[in-house]
Amino acid sequence: MTLAIDVAGLNKSFGDKHVVNDFSIQVEAGRICGFLGPNGSGKTTTLRMLCGLLTPDSGRGEALGFDILREADEIKRRTGYMTQKFSLYEDLTIAENLQFTARVYGLDRRTERVAVALDRLGLTARRDQLAGALSGGWKQRLALASATLHEPRLLLLDEPTAGVDPKARRTFWDEIHMLAAEGLTVLVSTHYMDEAERCHEIAYISYGRLIARGTAQEVVAASNLVTFHGEGPQVDRLAQELLGKPGVETVAPFGAALHVSGADRAALEATLQPFRRDPYRWREVQPTLEDVFIQLMSGAQDNYP
Ligand code: ADP
Repeated sequence: MTLAIDVAGLNKSFGDKHVVNDFSIQVEAGRICGFLGPNGSGKTTTLRMLCGLLTPDSGRGEALGFDILREADEIKRRTGYMTQKFSLYEDLTIAENLQFTARVYGLDRRTERVAVALDRLGLTARRDQLAGALSGGWKQRLALASATLHEPRLLLLDEPTAGVDPKARRTFWDEIHMLAAEGLTVLVSTHYMDEAERCHEIAYISYGRLIARGTAQEVVAASNLVTFHGEGPQVDRLAQELLGKPGVETVAPFGAALHVSGADRAALEATLQPFRRDPYRWREVQPTLEDVFIQLMSGAQDNYP
């Protein structure tokens, strides 16, 4: 097993705000690791420390085999970075955008790299169109091609598909999986559950702390959450009534149904007992990743000083 990321005890504060708290993680090369958690919980700060863009206050470790403190430049050179607000030059053509990136990075084999990227994107025939004329999904794919033109070994994606429609998201993810299959390690922050489920593994961060880690199935299993799925006419209207009752930690509409979850099975079952009657039907289901995240989020807030 080759580790692309192997860091321990990372801390970062901005002023008196402790944004990343004793963060440790290992990620195997060629894996797609999703970073999830509430806004402001330190995901971006963590990602930036992992690729040498930001120096931690303390902690140690390696990315791509290089020391994150002493060899940050080596890591940066081998990292691709794409954020939600990716930069494309709308008044340059598709090909010119890639050529521009190739020059900024001082890459060799520029013509060849751009041709390969265009071919891979299926944009060779449209190479001379203005990038500004592309749809949102295509712009995003062009930005990804641009971020990987220097053939990085680590790819950081910071909420890369915010505001992109589901079909374009799927295409984008197919591409990410292809890159990972070629050995690229991908760290991606996201708020979308479907994206979280597409990651090989997940890291859930809350208030700067890593509080859940593993495959989606492992994170669900480790939660010890018990979830009941309720159906019946307007069962969703029970949400307000159930919330705050003993054993009920989260209540979430699930289409026309309701998911009621908690870690204390006995208390949860006792609370639901009066509702186990016509016209409602209840059955226990496997919690979804979303059920688990909602629980993690509310739990963390309760414990936050
Ligand atoms: P996330 O990506 O989970 O939304 P961030 O890592 O962007 O979280 O931010 C975590 C916290 O750190 C936020 O409160 C943010 O305002 C603060 N923060 C991030 N970068 C800086 C900075 N350069 N200077 C001061 N505060 C910052």
